[in-house]
Amino acid sequence: MHRYDESFSKRCDLLAPRVVGALQSRHFEAYYCRTGAEAAALALGLIPEGASVSWGGSVTLQEIGLLDLVRRGPFRPLDRDTAQTPGERLDLMRQALLCDVYLTSVNALSEDGQLVNIDGVGNRVAAFTFGPQSVVAVAGMNKLCKTRPEAEIRARTYAAPLNAQRVLAGAGPEAVKTPCQHTGTCADCKSSACICSFLITTRMCRPAQRIKVILVGEPLGY
Ligand code: SF4
Repeated sequence: MHRYDESFSKRCDLLAPRVVGALQSRHFEAYYCRTGAEAAALALGLIPEGASVSWGGSVTLQEIGLLDLVRRGPFRPLDRDTAQTPGERLDLMRQALLCDVYLTSVNALSEDGQLVNIDGVGNRVAAFTFGPQSVVAVAGMNKLCKTRPEAEIRARTYAAPLNAQRVLAGAGPEAVKTPCQHTGTCADCKSSACICSFLITTRMCRPAQRIKVILVGEPLGY
């Protein structure tokens, strides 16, 4: 193991119990797993058999292999990537707002247990806030910030420009580009392709335990 990895793991082990407690004080269901594989197994166990399951775009969920496990499991996935047309894709995104379990990550969180998410179209933050019976959010401890304002800064100035590059990689040559896709840094844009239309802080979970947060002692996602 690289020395950085060892230090990262040690810090996570020390800090996680306090962050789990902070999340629980805000009525989230909260867990800490040391590895992404453990987190995927835990998340899978939180999904009832036969449940309809959907998800937002997430590097974290791909990295831990959770989406593949869900597709192969005894569930009813609502997968927008199976759509044949833009209209069908939009329809699946709308159906996802009423699914049983919605899978996602977060863009940042604070040590006092507040979650920060940023979204372009709003489907992911909508599901996070209301609709699906439960939300399972998996987050590497690399997304942990000392305070809520620092978490917002992380979401806007670090996660968003990186996610913009990811979106650009999947777009056609004619796609409108955002300033950060040209420069790598946020210009607080008003582009029609902006991926930062909605900045949501979830400071409490209502109803209690609807949102289940799984912290992971590995760097995951952006
Ligand atoms: S330039 Fe626009 S799309 Fe890029 S991070 Fe800033 S607000 Fe978001």
